[in-house]
Amino acid sequence: MSRKQKTKEEKQHLQDVAALGCVACRRAGYGETPAEVHHITTGFGTGQARDDLKVIPLCPAHHRTGPDAVHVSPALFERRFGHELELLEQTCKDLAAYRSSFVGGR
Ligand SMILES: [Zn+2]
Ligand SMILES: [Zn+2]
Repeated sequence: MSRKQKTKEEKQHLQDVAALGCVACRRAGYGETPAEVHHITTGFGTGQARDDLKVIPLCPAHHRTGPDAVHVSPALFERRFGHELELLEQTCKDLAAYRSSFVGGR
């Protein structure tokens, strides 16, 4: 029952999300910080998107190592930066803008 291999598209998606820079830093006004991808832990119910598409960019400090990192203190993280789903929505919008900056160049 193993899942199929990541498709090229999924890999590209993960790369693009990371390239956006930390979403928490941007919300806090710190600018773009190099990010790694965090998989959203919140359930979507049935008919959800593939797991590999439920990712948001977070810098190591906001992801794992800082006092308000999502894996260290999820409640504090949520209070400061918003709910994971909210950040996912933001990421989708940012991603659309990021991708459209390549095609057509505007
Ligand atoms: Zn950050
Ligand atoms: Zn994570």
